[in-house]
Amino acid sequence: MDEAEYIKLLDHALSQLPPDVMKHEKFVMPEAQIFIEGSKTLIKNFKVLAEKALRDPKHFMKFIVSEVGSAGTYDDQAGRAILSGAFTRKLIIDTIDKYVRDFVVCKTCGRPDTVIDKEGRQAVLHCKACGSSRAIPKL
Ligand SMILES: [Zn+2]
Repeated sequence: MDEAEYIKLLDHALSQLPPDVMKHEKFVMPEAQIFIEGSKTLIKNFKVLAEKALRDPKHFMKFIVSEVGSAGTYDDQAGRAILSGAFTRKLIIDTIDKYVRDFVVCKTCGRPDTVIDKEGRQAVLHCKACGSSRAIPKL
């Protein structure tokens, strides 16, 4: 077999693999669109962020609100989150990162293909990619 033929075969073999097998990059959230309006902080693409993380926006919102120590609402129609209080962009981004670390990404394989299950009263993050589970705090 000559090289060109070999490469062709290799290409074909690779094309048969599911795309996820080839890329194993770190999970990255889309950039949060954060705006301060008077005494409120808006996260305009909150729904997009929740969808990317495969999480219920309400669960995500609960976490943000408790982390920043504020009150807030999630507007499903507009897909945005509104927090009482003007918060720095850095604080919001750090809080989103923390949520992703604790409630989205699998600590064993680093992938975000996880679901939140309940085992009795304990919330468990179950990874669909590698099958591992870990306990997570209840929000
Ligand atoms: Zn995993």
